[in-house]
Amino acid sequence: MLKLTPKFAKECNFCQRSEVLTMADVHDKKTRSYNMSRIKGENTKPEILVRQFLHKNGFRFRLNYSKLPGKPDIVLPKYKTVIFVNGCFWHGHENCKYYVVPNTKTEWWLNKINKTKQRDIVNEQELESLGWKVKVIWECELKTDKRIQTFKDLLLFLKV
Ligand SMILES: [Zn+2]
Repeated sequence: MLKLTPKFAKECNFCQRSEVLTMADVHDKKTRSYNMSRIKGENTKPEILVRQFLHKNGFRFRLNYSKLPGKPDIVLPKYKTVIFVNGCFWHGHENCKYYVVPNTKTEWWLNKINKTKQRDIVNEQELESLGWKVKVIWECELKTDKRIQTFKDLLLFLKV
């Protein structure tokens, strides 16, 4: 039996399974490569949705601007706004159906996720103290049924 490494577990969470022995038996090739792109933390699909929306609406932005706290996913210098597109699992989105702590190694996961949440809070405070407006968009807010409302909210946020 394979040990549940974080990498494997992450993929499990993606496909909403609490336990996975091998990737091959649950993921087809296409899903795997999609998962891999998510794991690397770059060009994740939710983030691309936000970028496409902003681009289409004439907003110009920078990506992963590493000089800012927390390396925000999208930076809009003109609007002094940064956007984080957060995965509901990794950032512990409260009261969200996508935030399900695995029932194996539960304490380890909780500890890991809580550290991420703490870091998120600190980063947000630092950004705000530097004069940036911070917008967090959760992965679940980009699902097809919620996306339009999320983008409307984002426009309002940018225009305030
Ligand atoms: Zn969520």
